Formats: sequence, C-alpha cells, structure tokens
Amino acid sequence: MARIVMKFGGTSMAGTERIRRVAKIVRKQQAGRDGARNEVAVVVSAMAGETDRLVNFCREANPMYDTAEYDVVVASGEQVTSGLLALTLQSLGAKARSWLGWQLPIVTTGKHASARIDEIDAPGLGEAMAEGVIAVIPGFQGVDESGRITTLGRGGSDTSAVAVAAAVKADRCDIYTDVDGVYTTDPRIVSRARKLKAVTYEEMLELASVGAKVLQTRSVGLAMREGVRVQVLSSFVGDDAIPADEIPGTLIVSEAEMNDLVERGEMERQHVTGIAHDKNEAKIILTRVPDRPGSVANIFEPLAAASINVDMIIQNVGRDKGETDVTFTVPQADLPRAQALLEDRRDEIGFNRIITDSHIAKISVVGVGMKSHAGVAGTMFRALSERGINIQAISTSEIKISVMIDEDETELAVRVLHTAYGLDAPVDD
Ligand code: ASP
Ligand code: MG
Repeated sequence: MARIVMKFGGTSMAGTERIRRVAKIVRKQQAGRDGARNEVAVVVSAMAGETDRLVNFCREANPMYDTAEYDVVVASGEQVTSGLLALTLQSLGAKARSWLGWQLPIVTTGKHASARIDEIDAPGLGEAMAEGVIAVIPGFQGVDESGRITTLGRGGSDTSAVAVAAAVKADRCDIYTDVDGVYTTDPRIVSRARKLKAVTYEEMLELASVGAKVLQTRSVGLAMREGVRVQVLSSFVGDDAIPADEIPGTLIVSEAEMNDLVERGEMERQHVTGIAHDKNEAKIILTRVPDRPGSVANIFEPLAAASINVDMIIQNVGRDKGETDVTFTVPQADLPRAQALLEDRRDEIGFNRIITDSHIAKISVVGVGMKSHAGVAGTMFRALSERGINIQAISTSEIKISVMIDEDETELAVRVLHTAYGLDAPVDD
C-alpha cells in the first residue's frame, strides 16, 4: 500500500468526458496492483482556458483590479472541477468528496494573486484517505489568516499538489499533464526532442522558471525542500492503462540520485540537459535614468510591492555623464500595471522615456553538467550568430544561460541549439 497524491492539469480536466477518464485513472491507482489498495488524494486544475477567461473578466471590470477580489473570481474554476470529479468518482462507485482550500484549510500568506502556502494542518484528510475516501482538492486556492480566499499564482495547482503530498507524507506526487514527461525541449518545435527519464530538482527549477511549462517553478522548489518525490506523466492513456508505477514518465530527483542513474547506465551524462523558451515576457526600457545610488531601488521597489516579478535586468553604461538606460523584463500580463506604476513615479525615478516591447523571447539552455564543463556559452552564441540571430541581453546562473531575442526567431533558435548541443534523437531507419 502506498499513499499517493495525483494532480491533473487543465487539459485533463477540460469537460465531463475527460473528467471521467481522470476518474478511471484515479480508481485504478486506488485499487493498486494485486489488491494492494492505495490511499489517494487528487488535486485538480480548472478546465483548460477557464482561468484565462476569468482573468479577462477581472481586467474588463477594472484594469487596476484589487487582487483580493481577483482571487475570489479566479479561484472559482477549480471549485467547479473538484466538485465534478468527486461527482464522477461517486458515479463509478467510489467514496469521494471535495475539500475546498478554506475547508481543509490550506492556509496561505495574504499576498493575493501570488500567495504562499504557510501550512496545511488537515488531520481529517489523512484519516479520510485511510478510510478509503478519495479526497478531491482544488489546486491554486487557499485562505489567508483573515479568512479571505487567496490564489497561488498562475500554474499554482502543481504547488498545491506538492504541498498536500508533503502534508500527508505521500510516497509520491504524480503530476498528470498533457505531455508525458519532461523533454529536452518543446516537442512541438523540435520533433526530435527526447523524453528525459529523470532531471534534477535544480534543473527542473530552471526549466520551469524559463518557460518549459510542465510544472510551476514554486512547486519544484517546495518538492526539493520537502523531499517530495515527483513524477510527471501523461493523463492521455487508454482505459486499459497500466498503473502509474509502470508508466515511464519523468522522475524529478536529487543530484545524488541522478549520479547513481548515470553510473548504472540508465541516463547519459550531458553538458546541457534541456532548452526552454519563454514568450511571455515583455521588455521595458527606461531612458536617461540618473546614475546615482537609489535610482535602481526607486524603479524596482514599487514593482516588487505590486507583486510584479522582474527577471533580466541590464543597466547600460551611461552614454552621457550621470545618466544611464535601464532595461528589464516583466511578465507580459503585468506590463500595463508596471507601466502605470512607473509613469506615476516618473519624477521620483527621474527617467526620460519609457519604451516597451512585448515582441521578445527568452531562450535558455540548462544543465547541471555546465558546472564542470567550460564552453557551453560559447557554443550557444556561435550557433545563434551563424543563423543571424541577434542577442539583445544575456543572463546566466551556475546551470543556466539565457538570451533575449526577437520573438519571431524563437523556434529557429530552439532548433539550432538543440542540434548544437547534440540533443536530437537519432533518426530511426
Ligand atoms: N488554473 C490555474 C491556472 O491556470 C492554476 C493551475 O492550473 O495550475 O493558472
Ligand atoms: Mg499547469
């Protein structure tokens, strides 16, 4: 017997037909192999597209929306799917019930639209699971100390699942999604992308944060801290599907476990593990910012206070004495708010012009192998230049190199790099 938390994403939950398929997978997991019953909890996303639809309603109602009310609206998508899954499970003869975020409760900080989970103290959940009840929990939502509904940021259901897995001390957290694992890059762009048997928490963290939309970044950090074993796998399997234990998804493991896999010959050692792209960022340039202590703080503090995540930052060398241009990226969805906030503080910051550009993409190469291998960056810059792709900005970490390029060149850049690092799967003949 094992205790397993299963999480299903929006594509898997899109419509009653698909929810029925999910319910069957859940039943099979609960039944286990050879009569070894498992204890199961399920965390669900809203139906695909639903959260976007709800976000748009908020924008239409009030472009400068209050994030507390935004949370009330957007949390509703998961309420619908959790109730529907419980109903469907019941129709298959299972014992099932839903627990909404505030009922469990999943207590979070009060930072609306990007709250963090503080604790899940739900002894009742473990008890119900032990009694054979399938617990269905809406992802993405929680409740703050004052009793108001919160949400965890887009893609937050993954984090809910990992947090529930940690809280009930699950043996594994299986994330079912519309891809069947983590690939060297987006297989829709590179048909010769390969599925990885395993990636390290660190690599997954970088891949998730740069747009390999498999898992929410925060969920990976949480899994790493709590030591939750995570497996990514496909929910698009037939009715006679084998149980999750036998589906070859991608396991997210520690570096030590990865080294074992390499030594046993189950994984190949690579300098670069994967290539990610992200078209959801926008560039902001503030021109002629006074080059003095405090200028940069004046720009970024208000953005942080408004929960706007800044990623790449470049402060150009001042052309004129005492002035400099500051370039940075923010999520595209936050661009109007960021722009309004900065305009409001024009005098305080002292910039001349604000220039924005959403037509950019960030391409990143990621791999723990980079730690011990030089020349990875050189290969990237050379490969891009040979195809005439211009690099607008660069940022690096110990296991990642990212470049900002024109959005139209995204697919070309990903393909070129996938080949340059020898990641293409062999062609079968
Ligand atoms: N429904 C939310 C979103 O689309 C949360 C999730 O699916 O993880 O962002
Ligand atoms: Mg997701």
